[in-house]
Amino acid sequence: MQPSRISPATLSKLAKLGIHHRADLLLHLPLRYEDETHLAPIASVQSGETLQVQGIITHSEIAFRPRRTLLCRLQDSSGELYLRFLNFYPSQQKQLAVGRQIRAVGEARTGYYGLEMVHPKCRGVDDGTPLQQSLTPVYPTTAGLAQPVLRKLIANALETQLLSETLPDALLDKLNLTGFADSIRLLHSPTPEISARALEQRSHPAWRRIKFDELLAQQLSMRVHHRERSRRNAPALVPHGKLTARLIKNLPFALTGAQQRTLAEVSRDLAQPHPMQRLLLGDVGSGKTVVAVLAALQAIENGYQAALMAPTEILAEQHYLKLRDWLEPLGIEPVWLSGSLKKKDKQLAAERIASGETLLAIGTHALFQQQVSFHKLGLAIVDEQHKFGVQQRLALHKKGKGASAETDASITSSQRQPHQLMMSATPIPRTLAMSYYADLDVSVIDELPPGRTPVITKLVSDERRDEVIDRVRAACIAGQQAYWVCPLIDESETLQLQTALETYQLLGETFPELRVGLVHGKLDNAEKARVMTAFKAGELQLLVATTVIEVGVDVPNASLMVIDHAERMGLAQLHQLRGRVGRGAAQSLCILLYQQPLAELARARLKIIFESTDGFAIAQQDLQLRGPGELLGARQSGVAMLRFADISADEELLDRARQAADQLLRDHPESARAHLQRWMANRHDYLHV
Ligand code: ADP
Ligand code: MG
Repeated sequence: MQPSRISPATLSKLAKLGIHHRADLLLHLPLRYEDETHLAPIASVQSGETLQVQGIITHSEIAFRPRRTLLCRLQDSSGELYLRFLNFYPSQQKQLAVGRQIRAVGEARTGYYGLEMVHPKCRGVDDGTPLQQSLTPVYPTTAGLAQPVLRKLIANALETQLLSETLPDALLDKLNLTGFADSIRLLHSPTPEISARALEQRSHPAWRRIKFDELLAQQLSMRVHHRERSRRNAPALVPHGKLTARLIKNLPFALTGAQQRTLAEVSRDLAQPHPMQRLLLGDVGSGKTVVAVLAALQAIENGYQAALMAPTEILAEQHYLKLRDWLEPLGIEPVWLSGSLKKKDKQLAAERIASGETLLAIGTHALFQQQVSFHKLGLAIVDEQHKFGVQQRLALHKKGKGASAETDASITSSQRQPHQLMMSATPIPRTLAMSYYADLDVSVIDELPPGRTPVITKLVSDERRDEVIDRVRAACIAGQQAYWVCPLIDESETLQLQTALETYQLLGETFPELRVGLVHGKLDNAEKARVMTAFKAGELQLLVATTVIEVGVDVPNASLMVIDHAERMGLAQLHQLRGRVGRGAAQSLCILLYQQPLAELARARLKIIFESTDGFAIAQQDLQLRGPGELLGARQSGVAMLRFADISADEELLDRARQAADQLLRDHPESARAHLQRWMANRHDYLHV
């Protein structure tokens, strides 16, 4: 079968499997194998085994118990078993007529008639029909694309010239890697003496080579991205210290060592004439905001604008209020822009941004919509970046382009991009940082401001709800403030809202002596802001909230949090929520109310969150529980996931791939290019050409 003759229907099915090029066929590797290299005597077959038998059909009938079934008996010299088909064609019935010699491959089970195979793969044979020489691959596939079709396409691809070695011999020797062509051939058609276990567990040297190649391709592409970026232009924002020093002096606290160190890293990047792309990681409450503001001031000192974008209205508004207080003494008045502003106010804000009158813009993603154009954007800051989709982040790049050519003679190119600072409290385990974030520079705030007392976490079964209620009452009466986080309803926003309203009503009745507020995602923004301000000012004692408070909300006097139906929440979410308390000097408590019985995964999550308050440790465990896709928000991140390697299990290979990537780019750029071409999407050997 020539690739060019693949039917459009098959092409579209292949595309569903991510196969667009002939080379993709080579990398479409088997899930498992069937052993058709030898025949098992029927008498030796055990229930549960998948194997191949051969014999004569001694009985064949269409039975109606309970459904129309083709039932055949197959006999060899040692014994007999039944073959059963629920859906079958007349031709099959003919094939399986009494007296025919048949080879059947399938899983044996004990059924109504004794040992049987349901829907085995059958083939008419005679005594001389040879056995397969290698294990038969079973590929991941999609409806309507049968294994034999895939096998044939892949076998054809293996005949082509696409198996050239991309890596230099010295590297293969050093890392003790097998050749690419040998590895690929072996995985598609292993000979029977190869350990099926090593293949299935992907520990065989051939697998090791493929995993290494995949990790290497990922590393190379990240490096290439990084390089491309460092060739682009950005304004060099050198630190003058005029504004930054004044803010630092005015702050009611001293920066921690970690804040100073990360700030220095950011500041150094900003001074470069190439766009910074830095991720500032720090656990909840580690004080990322002030680092971001100081970076913004460095841009402003240089006559550039800065923008701070937050994923929720609540958080954006909180930033706005805090920064207004901090910056007012410096004579800087931030502008606020969100989707909820009245049309006229939005327009006004946009005008102030476009004219350059505004030096600092704060808001939600509304800041980066098309209508808003910056006069001279030097730095874009994205808070809680993991909450944004890739599209929104990419929109940032475009904002700096060509905005300022007239006003600054030194700006020569319309390629100018703003610097970017991303912040996240979702800590990234080392392996994730090394792989998916390898094109970013990362600064870590690994120290909390002094004077914090760690939050105590309690797991409480819902049966003891009354005690929890007493606890909340006592705390609030004693002058503390508390959050009550409503159960998460994933399926529907309407239900989520209803649950929030009901919880609010119920808790209002439970605590007639307390001032209770409610905040949820569907409140209009003015209302949301009013509630948050009241809570912050201590006018409300108990805040019933949905997970909208998950990110960024900062009310130091709140020291008690109850998370209702904690078993429904993810680890990262629980950690973020818990981070809303423990922000002041008072001992804080987080109560995880759970409903019994607990599913195993939920139990595992609660145990982790109970035992650890270290965001990095939690993220590491989360990675193991859920895999990188979830942690990265892969559904929206658009990051190509690894297919073969597993970054937690293959950490050693990842390290090697990282080193090899540097070496290849430096010493063997042509190898690097060939390797990337094999593994990345921009190849030219399209299937249909
Ligand atoms: P996050 O990293 O979670 O965004 P924030 O920037 O909101 O944390 O800071 C949490 C709280 O700690 C804020 O109230 C902030 O003003 C305060 N803070 C930040 N840095 C320090 C510091 N060095 N010393 C004391 N308090 C600090
Ligand atoms: Mg924050």
